Amino acid sequence: MQRVLVLNAGSSSLKFKLFTAAGTSLGEAGLGGQFDRIGDVANCTLKASQPGAAPGMKPRKWELKVPAQDHVGAMKGILDFIKENVSATFASEVVAVGHRIVHGLDLSQPVLLTPSSTATIKQAAVLAPLHNPPGLQGIEAATEVFSGVPQVAVFDTAFHQTMPPHAYMYGLPYELYEKHKIRRYGFHGTSHKYLVEQAAAMLGKPVSDTNVITCHLGNGSSVAAVRGGQCVDTSMGLTPLEGLLMGTRCGDMDPAVVLHIQNQCGLNVKETDTLLNKKSGLLGLTGSNDLRAVIEGAGKGELRSQLGLDMFTYRVRKYIGAYTAALDGKVDAVVFSAGIGENSPFIRKLIAEPLHAMGMQLDHAANDTAVGRAGVISTPGSRVQLLVIPTDEELSIAEQTLQVAKGALGAAAA
Ligand code: ADP
Repeated sequence: MQRVLVLNAGSSSLKFKLFTAAGTSLGEAGLGGQFDRIGDVANCTLKASQPGAAPGMKPRKWELKVPAQDHVGAMKGILDFIKENVSATFASEVVAVGHRIVHGLDLSQPVLLTPSSTATIKQAAVLAPLHNPPGLQGIEAATEVFSGVPQVAVFDTAFHQTMPPHAYMYGLPYELYEKHKIRRYGFHGTSHKYLVEQAAAMLGKPVSDTNVITCHLGNGSSVAAVRGGQCVDTSMGLTPLEGLLMGTRCGDMDPAVVLHIQNQCGLNVKETDTLLNKKSGLLGLTGSNDLRAVIEGAGKGELRSQLGLDMFTYRVRKYIGAYTAALDGKVDAVVFSAGIGENSPFIRKLIAEPLHAMGMQLDHAANDTAVGRAGVISTPGSRVQLLVIPTDEELSIAEQTLQVAKGALGAAAA
């Protein structure tokens, strides 16, 4: 059997998902899981689950303590685990490995990993210091385990490369863009691309004829404005810190706040980075980065939780308004996705209900039942469709990986 392996490396984690493949088409998603606390040998865990072999059958689940010093060790742990539980010949069945890489500078397409494309990922690490280095470790680990198998990098930034300069430039001296590539890049691109394709399918229109605002609302959150399948603006910027209020990130604010914090509180660059990326957002305002806890707190009358809730939903609404303007008022659908967007009718209601004057009419009954699954949550008469679509970044990465890898294999054979 041929298989495609998708890897998503975090600083101390390595997520994986296996897909079957037949020729150029991708088959079912099978085993998936996550290695956590890599490096913390005593607490390193490997969790995995495999869907039931037939509809209605229970999924299989594993949770094991498997020591791994680093990502190469974790990759070997995953390999041993899969050999033992899925297929003894697994290593030779993998025809392509796809990597989620957060920052690809101005690369607009997934690329086959070569010394030159790997060098670009290393270069982009300056702009994504928390994300690209573990991605490179994942590549190194897979190269050691699957030597000779084509590997493909799929970038979070790629889908947003169609943004026009007036959307991606900052109002800074032009030299900073020329010399240091300082501009807006956008992230969660694989998710936004997938959501746009699914939305067009749900509307029964070609992607090239569909205008969508996609709201990826999870621990990290972003919104994108997409005209005819091409991204024209997105809320994240040079890094994933810009835009919406997030679990632990502050999102949009006056950049002078940073200077003020450094002057008044004596924080250095690293401390400021930690403050803005890891201690702010819902966590900084309410004490929890989990929106469920914030909703519960607000329900009990806690003022800061109510503030966090109001700020989170207000900013999403503000971006939907701004992106309606970016699309010249011609919006076919607004999509809600990721942990919050897929699972919380309450949050969707807070965001969408006040937007009826913009042609977005929420159907309350449909909204309440679309939890963890796709659905239309607007009324039949709504000018703009409101959709819930579960995102599937791994599936999108696997599809793009297979496409690039097959192209490379074909070229090698010719
Ligand atoms: P990540 O960005 O880490 O991939 P997810 O997309 O998994 O995040 O989203 C995680 C977030 O989704 C959690 O922080 C949690 O607050 C939120 N979430 C999940 N289910 C619900 C729910 N029913 N109501 C509100 N928020 C939810």
